[in-house]
Amino acid sequence: MLVRHIINIVSVIAGVLLISAVSFNKLPWWSLLVLVFLWLLVTAYGVANIRSGYFLKSLNSNPDAEGKKIAITFDDGPDQNTLEILKVLDKYDVKGTFFCIGKQVEKHPEILNRIIEAKHIIGNHTFSHDKLIDLYGTDRFTEEIKDADEIIEKISGKRPLLFRPPYGITNPKIARAVKKTGHAVIGWNKRSFDTTIPSEKVILRRVTKNLKSGDVILLHDTKSITVTVLEQLLLFLQRNNFTTVTIDELFSIQAYV
Ligand SMILES: [Zn+2]
Repeated sequence: MLVRHIINIVSVIAGVLLISAVSFNKLPWWSLLVLVFLWLLVTAYGVANIRSGYFLKSLNSNPDAEGKKIAITFDDGPDQNTLEILKVLDKYDVKGTFFCIGKQVEKHPEILNRIIEAKHIIGNHTFSHDKLIDLYGTDRFTEEIKDADEIIEKISGKRPLLFRPPYGITNPKIARAVKKTGHAVIGWNKRSFDTTIPSEKVILRRVTKNLKSGDVILLHDTKSITVTVLEQLLLFLQRNNFTTVTIDELFSIQAYV
């Protein structure tokens, strides 16, 4: 049972008790509002934080990983900038995992194949990555995942089994969609904020601070700042004897059908 189910049951019981207390004038009417507010707060936290596991189980890190293993993941490509990322990874002989957007794959099929030829792993990051995608119903969200799988398979011959929800947002509809498609949901535990933070130093500090075996780093191959950060990160990993693995290897799961 997920924490969400326990919280919902407790909230309903608390609600019933509060209603009877209010009707017997033991508590003020607004105590019910407090309960609703707390419930909304917890639910919003669950929606915004994939690591909370509030709506679905996701793989965010593997603390049992032996031998100082780190997985570096890149979201939102393929993009022209991905080629620069690939050069850095190649220079240090490191393999990464790329969560690709279907419509970007359509735009840059040759870059998708370059990623695969270089022995990196591809995952699904929906077809459109629409700003309002988290408001989509279960069927429409399921189509988003399937459409991305199809375009990736059409171009590369590989059908992904790894899925990362856009913005790391989860909700009951996304949970149902993923249950239907059967993908493993991949989160992270080291978020770089490389799409919003303008300082390479700050981004690097965010991803290297308290870094430990089994951690999953989130970067974006669409950002030029990430190319510089990546090189510094790989030097840091080298200096500290970390090895870099792909997501399927870190969690001992299959990347493709
Ligand atoms: Zn994304």
